Amino acid sequence: MAQDHIERLARLHAEMAAWRHDLHAHPETAFREHRTSERAAGILAGLGMEVHRGLAGTGVVATLRRGGGGRSIALRADMDGLPVQEASELPYRSQIPNAMHACGHDGHMAMLLGAARELAERGRFDGTVRFIFQPAEENEGGGRVMVEEGLFDRFPADAVFGLHNWPGADAGQIAVRPGPVMAAFDVFEVRVRGRGAHGATPHLAIDPVVAAAQMIGGFQTIVSRNVSPVEAAVVSVTQLQGGDTWNVIPEEVRLRGSARHLRPEVGRVVEEGVRRVVAGVASAFGAAAEIEYRNRYPATVNEPAATALAARAAADVVGRERTLADEPPSLASEDFAFMLQARPGCYVWLGNGPADGDRSLHSPRYDFNDAILPVGAAYWVRLVETVLSLP
Ligand SMILES: [Zn+2]
Ligand SMILES: [Zn+2]
Repeated sequence: MAQDHIERLARLHAEMAAWRHDLHAHPETAFREHRTSERAAGILAGLGMEVHRGLAGTGVVATLRRGGGGRSIALRADMDGLPVQEASELPYRSQIPNAMHACGHDGHMAMLLGAARELAERGRFDGTVRFIFQPAEENEGGGRVMVEEGLFDRFPADAVFGLHNWPGADAGQIAVRPGPVMAAFDVFEVRVRGRGAHGATPHLAIDPVVAAAQMIGGFQTIVSRNVSPVEAAVVSVTQLQGGDTWNVIPEEVRLRGSARHLRPEVGRVVEEGVRRVVAGVASAFGAAAEIEYRNRYPATVNEPAATALAARAAADVVGRERTLADEPPSLASEDFAFMLQARPGCYVWLGNGPADGDRSLHSPRYDFNDAILPVGAAYWVRLVETVLSLP
């Protein structure tokens, strides 16, 4: 069963750790993963796989076929680092100023490469496996670009699976559940225009600062008064700009923020609420307001049948008691959502150990936990052998 793969992947541990440390020392940010994708493509080609490069710029897709079956599965790892100055003293710390693998994508790549090696050398399955190495997960939506550039038309797959390390879950636990697991992400920008005047003559002004303040207060009522209390949503104003000095009421105030939610119905309520508050408050104050509201990422939604297969593979590798079915969704976002809109599939979290202190994602001292490399790789191998089981 899974046991011999786990033992063998434990022997590949040092090699996966070496790959990860090399990638960690040379992080590249969104769409600039040139060295990174070169490394991944070189290792995959060395295993005798067909390797395609260039989708979404630096994307890599490798294909492994076995048997005569027509079934197929895609496994995805993200490749980008973040624009963060690494603050650790690790021997393999980033050598690139203001770039760092602070989200563990170095570990995701090493685990998928380890699984690719194990499957190429000893995999017992029937069908086609696509190994996807995706650029620009952070902020730039490289997953969307790969799908738009024809990922699944050129490299057909019946289902697609993703994985992220998860500080806060015990090392080696796997959290897997059907339905939404990460949130949709919207951004908005509002320009509130009034009439500037001396700070001593507010009656001659239309004060955009007061109007903007009322809008921010109004936004707080969307989640508390318009969204059902059993649903999840967040509206945050994160930037506020206006005015230059103490004694001038400015002409204009600009505010920016983001909204997050797990279901499209809730997303519509939130967007309508933000637009209604902006228009209503501006009108009440005699100001003018323009709003730009963009839906950036959809929610990451796990399809039930694929999720059941992922849960079975996880339990085979880490045991049923370490397979978490009730971990609550996160209101962070993930561009794997675009792949899950194109194909059914499942995205799981692999416990990375405690999240306290410097061990949380995006911290300048974060480091992926090498102890879980064989666990993640074994999960991938077991998942392939579960979904593409021998006839
Ligand atoms: Zn991240
Ligand atoms: Zn990440």
